[in-house]
Amino acid sequence: MVPKPTKECTKCGVRVHECPVQAINPENPKKVDEKVCISCMRCISVCPHANRRVNPVMLSAVGLALKKVCSERKQNELFI
Ligand code: SF4
Repeated sequence: MVPKPTKECTKCGVRVHECPVQAINPENPKKVDEKVCISCMRCISVCPHANRRVNPVMLSAVGLALKKVCSERKQNELFI
């Protein structure tokens, strides 16, 4: 799940330096290396113009999957 820029993206480049794995192309900040991106969503949180989003269909699917998995309280387990 890789965040994409909106049409309003100004290519300001703020996110380029904030990406922890340098997945955002410094010469064209609209381009992201999808093989490198770890989907941390930092670029969404630091974009000063809120012009970066995740596909809403994918977001909804992930939300449904998490809701199903997290709906019941589970006991703590220790794996060594
Ligand atoms: S989601 Fe994280 S890893 Fe992916 S482009 Fe944004 S800041 Fe970089």
